[in-house]
Amino acid sequence: MHYRPEHGTVYLVGAGPGDPDLITAGGLRLLRHAEVVVFDRLVHPDLLDCIRMDAERIYAGKAPGQHSMPQEDINRILIDRARQCRSVVRLKGGDPFVFGRGGEECLALAEANIPFQVISGVSSAIAAPAFGGIPVTHRNVSPAFAVVTGHSCTAGRAPDWNALARVGTLVILMGLGRLNWIAGQLIGAGLDPETPVAIVESAATENQRTVSGTLGTIGLLGVGCAAPATVVIGEVASLHSRITWFNEGIVSSDGALHDSFVYNPSPTASVLL
Ligand code: SAH
Repeated sequence: MHYRPEHGTVYLVGAGPGDPDLITAGGLRLLRHAEVVVFDRLVHPDLLDCIRMDAERIYAGKAPGQHSMPQEDINRILIDRARQCRSVVRLKGGDPFVFGRGGEECLALAEANIPFQVISGVSSAIAAPAFGGIPVTHRNVSPAFAVVTGHSCTAGRAPDWNALARVGTLVILMGLGRLNWIAGQLIGAGLDPETPVAIVESAATENQRTVSGTLGTIGLLGVGCAAPATVVIGEVASLHSRITWFNEGIVSSDGALHDSFVYNPSPTASVLL
């Protein structure tokens, strides 16, 4: 499929997490040609370098110490620029439909009769664990995974922690601030406090760090971690020590992250493998 930007159309493009190479080929093509780009905070700056010089760039993320642009304002901008007959890329971290409010933007566009397309992205829900050496499913270990927000604002429809405790692998986004509370819910629902846990911080960047522990120690683990971070709870989290392939924190002298995309077995890993 060839994504070609049409005038008057809005493209919700997933940028992937961390490394700018994780955007899809179609998403990158649209980004290069867009006349307007509305982007979020977690989008890598190198991707913004791909935008046309004459394109309008609109930052919709949170400035330090300030609130994010209200969702209604973002919707209004998308509709307004499309009505000006310009091609608009709405660039979001990860996948636009995974806690990205992409659905709300699509509803607003549909209501305004603006044509739009969704270009899926690599979600941190899968990629952050993967970069930490953790497969979200694993034969004979975890047949299912659930992705859940740890953010309290979405508690209008609070997750059913009793049901989640029985899923297999839990991937928690936006959960750093509430790890103690989440662990309490899951332990209360019968999950063993010894269940392995890993926190992957700034996945796919030169600052990536993976911290492992158990459900019982997750609260303490989280204290020293910084956002953005993805939390993995379940037996698969223990695979981190055996499948680690991303050299965390190692960047080449020219700053290129790609040099660290090597599988480099540690003495422990080679014994276990
Ligand atoms: N739509 C995005 C998620 C948006 S919510 C996606 O599909 O990835 C933002 C949350 O995503 C963060 O709080 C964090 O939990 C996770 N996240 C985003 N980028 C990340 C990264 N580079 N490393 C680890 N987690 C990340």
